[in-house]
Amino acid sequence: TPATIGSSLIPVINKLQDILASSGTELSDISVPQVAVVGSQSSGKSSVLEALVGRDFLPRGCDICTRRPLVLMLESRPPNSEDDRSEWGEFRHLPGRRFYDFSQIRREIQIETEREAGCNKGVSEKQIRLKISSPNVLNMTLIDLPGITKVPVGDQPSDIEARIRRMIMAHINNENCIILAVSPANSDLATSDALQIAKLADPTGSRTVGVISKLDIMDRGTNACNFLLGRVVPLKLGYVGVVNRSQEDINKNRSIQEALAYEEQFFHDHPVYNGVSDRCGIPQLAKKLNLILEQHIRRDLPRLNSELNSRLHAAMKELQMYGEVVESKAEQGAILLDILRRYCDDFSAMVDGKIQDMSTK
Ligand code: GDP
Ligand code: MG
Repeated sequence: TPATIGSSLIPVINKLQDILASSGTELSDISVPQVAVVGSQSSGKSSVLEALVGRDFLPRGCDICTRRPLVLMLESRPPNSEDDRSEWGEFRHLPGRRFYDFSQIRREIQIETEREAGCNKGVSEKQIRLKISSPNVLNMTLIDLPGITKVPVGDQPSDIEARIRRMIMAHINNENCIILAVSPANSDLATSDALQIAKLADPTGSRTVGVISKLDIMDRGTNACNFLLGRVVPLKLGYVGVVNRSQEDINKNRSIQEALAYEEQFFHDHPVYNGVSDRCGIPQLAKKLNLILEQHIRRDLPRLNSELNSRLHAAMKELQMYGEVVESKAEQGAILLDILRRYCDDFSAMVDGKIQDMSTK
């Protein structure tokens, strides 16, 4: 199975949750990371998000398709706990109705977009909220946003650009939000709307990842190596170049698997990208994001640790009143705490090493 966003973290989180559960106390949850895509219209934002999730369900196309913010909550669920079928989607506006067919989810997004924003290219800031419940995802929130556009068309008001910018900023100002700034390779990176708006929300670049899309349709004789190496616009967390499905692929219903295979072949066939292969392809983007998500989760560990510490302390005090038999229980508690502490240390060391690798590359 190809790397998807969060996938490599699932065993790590499961282990942490096991440790927390075996402490016998309810601890407040690990906070849920957020990732949002920004950029100009038709730069490939929805395509990138879909590829990262590894499922086909977002409206994509050469016109304005994403016309309301879509908040996609991935929710991890133990296998077969409630339902034999492994994953489903549920919309906030249709509570209780489970969608098992992802093409139906896309249809419902389209219907709900039109209900609020009309059928003539109108845009609305009212979110569509969709929850995907699956045993194969990490708890996290992904946000697909309308693209920046300059000239009003259809039902769009004359201040469409300002409205969309406000809508984007409202979502990416959150310090916990990782920003995927998507710029197409066939236009100049120095004029990228994506990088410009990402910089407004994240001036230090500590939570912005650059994505260069459409590497397959650059002018003949040009390539994106200088972009990818950060020589045009430097970015702390760096860039990843991708090839998504073209409009023809969409019309022909090409699957995500076919698209990923095509992308891999593309990079294989273009020797200019050999030297920067760690910055090429959706699987590399997923890997990079997973590292950043690890760092995000690590920030919660001290809080979890001290929470557990104080609960253990209280429990041990209580146990002391019962004498010897229970002392072994207190010892068990101490052992658990020790396991958690070592886990936190290992985890931090691992993330530190990887993050350092990433920024020095
Ligand atoms: P968004 O408006 O930024 O969400 O962009 P979409 O994901 O809807 O894509 C816009 C159009 O660009 C669609 O027709 C896609 O098929 C096409 N597209 C997106 N990424 C790529 C790419 O990497 N290569 C090619 N050839 N077309 C792409
Ligand atoms: Mg879109």
